[in-house]
Amino acid sequence: MPELPEVEIYARYFARHALRQRIARVRVLDERILGAVRKDAFARALRGRAFTRVRRHGKHLFADAGGTWLHLHFGMTGDLSTYDDAPPRFARVIFDFDNGAHLAFEDMRLFGVADTIPDPDAFIRLHALGPDPLSLRLGEFRRIVEGRRGAAKSLLMSQDVIAGIGNLYADETHFQASIAPRRPADQLAPVEIKTIFLTMRKILLTTIERKERGDDYPPRYLIHHREEGARCPRCGGTIVKSVVFGRTTYSCARHQM
Ligand SMILES: [Zn+2]
Repeated sequence: MPELPEVEIYARYFARHALRQRIARVRVLDERILGAVRKDAFARALRGRAFTRVRRHGKHLFADAGGTWLHLHFGMTGDLSTYDDAPPRFARVIFDFDNGAHLAFEDMRLFGVADTIPDPDAFIRLHALGPDPLSLRLGEFRRIVEGRRGAAKSLLMSQDVIAGIGNLYADETHFQASIAPRRPADQLAPVEIKTIFLTMRKILLTTIERKERGDDYPPRYLIHHREEGARCPRCGGTIVKSVVFGRTTYSCARHQM
């Protein structure tokens, strides 16, 4: 499921392949992928224009088409690809550019969304999305989480606190920060909040860098060991499964305090 690092890679891909080319044609192959916009209005809003820049906020991608923005959300199985001859099997929307290139927005399971919106900042406010973790500063993070109740894990999982972190990266952050995910958030020491913040950023940036090269996660990441009773790659303790903030959570019984 695409989370922030994957969407960052899609945003970079979009920037490499789809900017500054006139959009000759917009083909909606399956209307179920569209948000509130109708097929004809979607195509009309983008045809003849060119994307000039890409912006990512959390798991949302926005591309500026001059007066209107394309918004993509990747749901469970969304992806972007260019092709020469035949479009990919699950292409839902295709952009044909004047230079002959084709960009497909694919989504097998159709939980994603393609839409046109007037303004990403208004969209972010309307959906009450917190700041993006990669443009957030520690001081701001401290202010946002101060006084929040609930499990520590809920800080990272709540999209109104911080946008774009899902279950996997929240667990990975707590694992690497050595903090138990069910610790009450309002009892975290300032140094622990700092550790969570820095660890989260490091994991996101490392993942983006490695995935862009086609590499897997580092071997000592929890993500390879998400199984009840597995051995902790960090301390040799036991990985336990629990439910925190309503989600299946894996953590080490020994080194996460
Ligand atoms: Zn451990």
